[in-house]
Amino acid sequence: MKNYINGEWTAFSQEEMHVLNPVDGSLLNSVCRSGLEDVEAAVNAAAIAFETWKKTPIQERVQLQKKLAASMRKQSASIGRQLSLELGRPLTACIHEINRSAELLEYYAEEALRMKGYFPLTNVEGEKVLVTREPLGVVVSITPFNYPITLLTFKMGAALVMGCTMVSKPSEDTPLSTLALAACFEEAGYPAGVFNVITGYGKEIGDALVSHPKVTKIAFTGGTSTGAHIAGVAARTHKRITLELGGQSPAILCEDADLDMAVPAIVKHGFANTGQFCYRVNRVYVHESLYEQFCQKMKEATEKLTLGAGIEDNCDLGPMVNEKIFANAFQQIEDAQSKGARILTGGKRRTGGIYEKGFFLEPTLIAEASPEMKIMREETFGPVIGIASFTNEAAAIQEANASPYGLAAYVFSHNIGRGLRIAEQLQAGSVWVNNIQRSYHSVPFGGMKQSGIGREKGIHGLEAYTELKTIYLNY
Ligand code: NAD
Repeated sequence: MKNYINGEWTAFSQEEMHVLNPVDGSLLNSVCRSGLEDVEAAVNAAAIAFETWKKTPIQERVQLQKKLAASMRKQSASIGRQLSLELGRPLTACIHEINRSAELLEYYAEEALRMKGYFPLTNVEGEKVLVTREPLGVVVSITPFNYPITLLTFKMGAALVMGCTMVSKPSEDTPLSTLALAACFEEAGYPAGVFNVITGYGKEIGDALVSHPKVTKIAFTGGTSTGAHIAGVAARTHKRITLELGGQSPAILCEDADLDMAVPAIVKHGFANTGQFCYRVNRVYVHESLYEQFCQKMKEATEKLTLGAGIEDNCDLGPMVNEKIFANAFQQIEDAQSKGARILTGGKRRTGGIYEKGFFLEPTLIAEASPEMKIMREETFGPVIGIASFTNEAAAIQEANASPYGLAAYVFSHNIGRGLRIAEQLQAGSVWVNNIQRSYHSVPFGGMKQSGIGREKGIHGLEAYTELKTIYLNY
């Protein structure tokens, strides 16, 4: 498959990159292994398109965005299928990702209509000051494999409606769904060059994209070390950045927690997308009075989960996307075992039959996990949860915060005052108290500490693609 540049399917590099089915390693398709010429063409197309797009009335941009959302909904089965094949996640969940992303596009479109400038009442005769916002320019979006359309839409939906243009570089593991999405731009009737997609290896073309003089902003979601590299390159030309990075999110269960609420929520949120989920529950601190009961209930619920090929849509967890991600999670299990942890369930790679060629890791619970174990310190990005007990609430909060990450955290307590007090002390961009309901489009999402810079979604997500300008008027 070719790149989508300036409204055309084209590729300058003759090199190809293989996209594999993680279930059995078979070849799904080949995409362009872009080189510098592809970067140049895509950025130039976006830069030229910006000159017209920034002057397009916001009403027209909003109407186009709604058409794009409608097209995505129409194509959700086929884009969802591409996504399920390249990622291994169950088909229904992949189709849901496309439809929910369309919903986010509509939210951003509606919110954009409410964006305002202002002028302060200085009360000086013959003078006014106008405070306005302008679109930033060409935005480069770099996204990971795990939720390719959602994480692109976080950026693209805000950038385009605010008048920016975009070059999207999807993950090398899951580029097919993003290319399928580009076809929706054609159907919606967007002007050429407003949205472009180039595929390839981040390590090969990343620096060229991030340092390009015609690019104003980098919107990145991915690993914390990749984010640090990108921020360093972007800083040389003072580009604007939004970074959504890794997580190692803790849950605290107080002695008055409702286990019937907490257990299903943690199992769902810890193992969703085979644990390849940035703000999943990675580690749990349980009050000692509930510890054994919690472990038993978690084991029962986890053992009901099924593994399989996502496209068959008859399983809870698919394979992990690649060997690197699998090896990292598996090492954490081995590390915990070697340091005396108890494997409550799972802990093994499943082999034989349909599992033989994929990286299928059983959903794993590690009890008696202690702070020196990797499972309690490092991001897992796989279906493994560490569990520890505590006696003292303050110590549990301190342990939960003893991490370079700060993406999300979870508290379970019947006492809402206590839940809120703990939530206020947790160093995380989002905290859930007493259940883990789905996130809203209208509220900000992002990380503290090394989990990121800036916020996506909500009005803050839109503002992040604009620059404030102050105009002094004398008349
Ligand atoms: P990754 O960092 O390996 O890759 C992400 C993207 O960066 C890919 O498109 C890749 O090609 C590109 N890239 C790699 N090297 C680059 C370079 N030198 N310059 C420019 N681009 C480069 O991450 P991954 O393995 O695809 O995804 C997993 C990570 O993403 C996890 O750490 C996870 O926590 C994080 N993540 C964070 C969020 C969030 O919202 N905070 C959401 C999802 C995933």
